[in-house]
Amino acid sequence: MAKQKPRISFEFFPPKTEAGMDKLLNTVNPALNELNPAFFSVTYGAGGSTRDTTLDVVSAIAEKGIDVAPHLSFGGDDENSVGNLLDTYRERGIKRLVALRGDRPSGFGHSTHMVYANELVAFVRERHGDHFQIEVAAYPEIHPEAESYDTDVQFLKGKFDAGANSAITQFFYNVEAYFYFLDRCADAGIDGPIYAGVMPFINFDNIQRFASNTGAEIPRWVCKRMESLRGNEEDMQKFGVDVVTQLCQTLLENGCPGIHFYTMNQVEPTQQIYSNLGLA
Ligand code: FAD
Repeated sequence: MAKQKPRISFEFFPPKTEAGMDKLLNTVNPALNELNPAFFSVTYGAGGSTRDTTLDVVSAIAEKGIDVAPHLSFGGDDENSVGNLLDTYRERGIKRLVALRGDRPSGFGHSTHMVYANELVAFVRERHGDHFQIEVAAYPEIHPEAESYDTDVQFLKGKFDAGANSAITQFFYNVEAYFYFLDRCADAGIDGPIYAGVMPFINFDNIQRFASNTGAEIPRWVCKRMESLRGNEEDMQKFGVDVVTQLCQTLLENGCPGIHFYTMNQVEPTQQIYSNLGLA
């Protein structure tokens, strides 16, 4: 039987400047769209800080007839404003969402009530039925605030039970962590697909910072090799592309249903990895 083509999606963040917006919409998006992804997604800043820019990027991509999913979270907003934003997305032809609790905006204390992602999924289903395909977040190396491995898996199950269709993982470089996690999710009765979130090495220092914030582990040998290549940007890029190509290859050969690339609004190296995988 022919192997099913993996689902590929690309994530952007809303740029802060007009030049960044112009580059994203007129260069990066068209170049990556040539790779024929299932959809693009656009992040949403903690506490609604990118409410307008996320909407602008999503609307501009949707106007070209391209499938695009806004990320959405309550942050500090009430039901009215989240409900209005959802209505606007629907009016603009959006059919897919990434539903999140969201990161805590700096200044928000840990005691602040945050609306969990399962509650947002239920809210969307209650208001819009099956209109939206809903993606949620999953954590093969476990969410940094989770009480335990098992509770985190149970809360992921809660998001599926509330109506999510599929999940996209936090980025990771430990392939065993992903497949072990899939098995524990299956044990817990989760039967929706869990797509792998993959972060190409674009700026190693930034990725180390993200990794320490999100609890993703960068293998020691990768850190050591990157350190020894410091000063030679081209070699760092090449090594990073090789490592991530190998990661994706192992994932796809072993049953991962598809990959969500955290592109960081760059065409390279996502395009290079995609081509190395023979997906182009
Ligand atoms: P939840 O699933 O709500 O879980 C949050 C924590 O609470 C976990 O520790 C969980 O174990 C626990 N928990 C879950 N449900 C419950 C419950 N009902 N009761 C008690 N505890 C519970 N952040 C942004 O700010 N903007 C983005 O655009 C964005 N996009 C992302 C896209 C992807 C694919 C991923 C993987 C992450 C993204 N994030 C984004 C980061 C995400 O917002 C953070 O990881 C956030 O801290 C948790 O969001 P969540 O939706 O996973 O939360």
